[in-house]
Amino acid sequence: MKIARIEIDREACIGAAPCVTVAPGVFQLDDENKAYVVDPKADDDDNILLAAQACPVQAIKLFDEEGNQIYPD
Ligand code: SF4
Repeated sequence: MKIARIEIDREACIGAAPCVTVAPGVFQLDDENKAYVVDPKADDDDNILLAAQACPVQAIKLFDEEGNQIYPD
């Protein structure tokens, strides 16, 4: 699996922040307490997937190089 793109549904995000705990180099909270992507290359794909799976509202969507959604599947 290769993650090419990370999308965050900021409407869905509740600022619970486990994504930041799991992959702080990739995800941070802004001043509205919504997650954003700081650096998609700051962590390996397995850990980014773990961060997405840790999100309680599945606000993090992952796509491969062909644009297929990897997670949530
Ligand atoms: S885990 Fe989900 S809800 Fe929590 S800050 Fe990250 S994207 Fe937002």
